[in-house]
Amino acid sequence: MSDTPKAVHRWLAVPDQFDRFTRFLRDNGILMPTRIGIGILVFLLGVTILLKRLGTHSVQTIGFPLDVVIAVLVMIGGTALPFTATTRERSYLFVIAGDLAVAVIVLAEANPDQRLLGCLVFGLVGSYIAFFHNLRAQLWHLLFSGAVIVIASIGVFTDVPSGLSDVLGRIAFAIPVITVIPVVTQIALALLSNDAQSSELDPLTDLLNRRGLSRRTSELLQAKSSLDQSLLVVVIDIDNFKHFNDTYGHDVGDRVILRTAYRLHDWARSDAAIARIGGDEFVVVQIMPLPYVGDLLARIAPIMNSPTGEPLSTTSIGIAIHNGGWPDVQAAESGVHDLHRLADSAMYESKRMGGNHVHSIVLTDQQPQQSGGRSVV
Ligand code: GH3
Ligand code: MG
Repeated sequence: MSDTPKAVHRWLAVPDQFDRFTRFLRDNGILMPTRIGIGILVFLLGVTILLKRLGTHSVQTIGFPLDVVIAVLVMIGGTALPFTATTRERSYLFVIAGDLAVAVIVLAEANPDQRLLGCLVFGLVGSYIAFFHNLRAQLWHLLFSGAVIVIASIGVFTDVPSGLSDVLGRIAFAIPVITVIPVVTQIALALLSNDAQSSELDPLTDLLNRRGLSRRTSELLQAKSSLDQSLLVVVIDIDNFKHFNDTYGHDVGDRVILRTAYRLHDWARSDAAIARIGGDEFVVVQIMPLPYVGDLLARIAPIMNSPTGEPLSTTSIGIAIHNGGWPDVQAAESGVHDLHRLADSAMYESKRMGGNHVHSIVLTDQQPQQSGGRSVV
């Protein structure tokens, strides 16, 4: 039980899922069908509001046909939805507009039985939040819808055309639809996405693993501006790593791996993809404007092979750089594979030189130019 508050704290800290979920839908080719589906659902809700007005059970508290105006707006919104660019801000506006529309429709209805029925639509808004946003947004939505439901429930037991058991049945049905289903969906999705995330991380260093590196590299290449910039692939391998394990034990070996990971964080740019892809082997993929490359390369040997910390450790480093951009993402992706191969052979060149060495291969117009140097230790 004592783990529950911690878990709630963790769920509340889950960041907004809009970008991640939209990317997931896009990567799987279902972003447009999802938008069309939501658009149709919203349009049909507008139609439902119109038909409800024509029905015999509905009684309005105000003379002005506010529900008709909202129905028309909802239908226009549903039609426009698949054609409007989606952003996180617009998605929040969609949620707020949805909650407000439901609140107005519900509170403008005089028949408490019908009011309760209208409240069920809050469950649809909650389900949307469960997929596209986070638990924090869900709780705000529940707070708002809860307040509306309390107001809407006034008179529900005394002033209803149907019997008491009908009303109780509707309430028993409404509670899970409006609260339990969206919240449980939200938590299950957050846990699933945590699982997916941890399957892309190396448990010792929290760096990416091979799979995470591949996903993160594709993400970097998808960014439009990346195609005009320099691309670096760096392979780093700890020298004589087995000696640390054999001499000082596995725990010290782990500490040397962790120190190498910290040094890579110190060296690399904040948007770099940093991975541990084998026992003592690391890969960094970075995309940046050409003028920054020189400074970055000058810092790698002093940071990675710094003569500090016990036991002292050094690395062999291979760097492959492509300057000059790519025509498209496919070319960039196959370029990264070639660069990885070149960086790997550059790293082995550093090993052949006795380790504690940086060897670089720069590709200009597809002609590799090589250079190397011993790190200062
Ligand atoms: P070289 O200088 O040629 O790179 O030799 P090396 O000893 O560094 O490299 P080698 O690949 O021969 O040894 C890597 C060792 O790393 C083998 C494996 O037992 C050990 N290892 C793999 N994963 C871990 C780990 O998570 N922790 C520790 N402590 N050791 C690990
Ligand atoms: Mg090694």
